[in-house]
Amino acid sequence: MAKINPNYRKLSAGYLFPEIARRVREYTTAHPDVTIYRLGIGNTTEALTPTVLQGLHDRVDALGVRETYTGYGDEQGEADLRAAIAAYYAARGVTLDPGEIFVSDGAKADAANVQNLFAQESVMAIQNPAYPVYVDSNVVAGRTGEYDAESGSYAGLRLLDGTPDNGWFAPPPQRAQDEVDVVYLCSPNNPTGAVATRQQLTEWVAYARQHRAVIIFDAAYAEFIADPELPRSIYEIEGARECAIELTSLSKFSGFTGVRLGWAVVPFALRAEDSEEGELNRMWNRRQSTFFNGASNIAQSGAAAALSEAGQAESRELVAYYMENARIIRSALRELGLDVVGGDNAPYLWVKTPHGPDGQPLGSWEFFDQLLHEAGVVVTPGSGFGPAGEGYVRFSAFGHREDIEAAVRSIRERLKL
Ligand SMILES: *Cc1c(COP(=O)(O)O)cnc(C)c1O
Repeated sequence: MAKINPNYRKLSAGYLFPEIARRVREYTTAHPDVTIYRLGIGNTTEALTPTVLQGLHDRVDALGVRETYTGYGDEQGEADLRAAIAAYYAARGVTLDPGEIFVSDGAKADAANVQNLFAQESVMAIQNPAYPVYVDSNVVAGRTGEYDAESGSYAGLRLLDGTPDNGWFAPPPQRAQDEVDVVYLCSPNNPTGAVATRQQLTEWVAYARQHRAVIIFDAAYAEFIADPELPRSIYEIEGARECAIELTSLSKFSGFTGVRLGWAVVPFALRAEDSEEGELNRMWNRRQSTFFNGASNIAQSGAAAALSEAGQAESRELVAYYMENARIIRSALRELGLDVVGGDNAPYLWVKTPHGPDGQPLGSWEFFDQLLHEAGVVVTPGSGFGPAGEGYVRFSAFGHREDIEAAVRSIRERLKL
């Protein structure tokens, strides 16, 4: 008799986005004439750029000709793309060997899979709030106990609480009993829009080297950083290649959310407590060769184009477009007296809920409902990203400018604060 993996049953009920969809459906069924503005989901909306399109078209055409047709490629990615990624890092002063770069079909799957490099009993630390895949992949892998609705967490998982005081980046643990083995850091952060400073990352790298811990650094939003003082790659921090894996993606930079292309950097120098020189790199290579057949060759050709000089310049224009959306949303919310952070080096705004009629701050879902019912605006409740997100909602800057402007107008005219 087959038995199911019981860990799936541990996953907390009601995944965030289906619950949002349910509430929106319920509201629009009752109010079919109301216009709904979606400022919730982190999905790109603007067209691919000309250079990327050319890269995609070129490969499509090549695949249609017997002499230039190719089937399976290297599981690690095509050599020219890996070289282009290495050059992209080199332009920021980070030297990587193409053998340390593993092309994938996106950072989400890498973020879910990377945990299997580590021992079952590893203590996993995750920012709170966080992108849900870090927690859920460890739950399904059986590293946690049951979900505790009271604390909003799983037994055995270490949550690193973000607060306004620590800039939504918790410092490394101080006490021996709080020691962690693997830590996920996402900067710029989804959902808070916060970016770790050089100082904060330096502290984490020092901690990881001292304790032989490993940092999983999700840099999916690196290109949204405008401030030149803020690190875009963990490898800008000295010593990081001994202790960090970096996950990146063209989804948000170049609009590849549907095209699908990302990469993981697993340095040769990366060490765990019991690993040999280069062993983690070889393990990831083995994993990719055995469980993955490579990213689409069409997507890889588009990615190489996106990383060309012209491609990057065009992608930066896409980023600038979304960041102007962020500025429009932020200034409107601030004018209304709301407390807003983020949105300056990340496409997310993290907004504190206002006080309700009883003088208490609204819960995340309460403010979600108020925005939906009064202004027709859909956001994402902060509590859906972890218990430390309670009392906040996330606004996303992804959207067509005219839709963002209409949503902001609706908030200005109809939201009763
Ligand atoms: C969007 C996003 C990604 C990118 O995922 P892909 O699978 O590359 O599309 C990775 N991490 C975070 C935190 C994200 O928000």
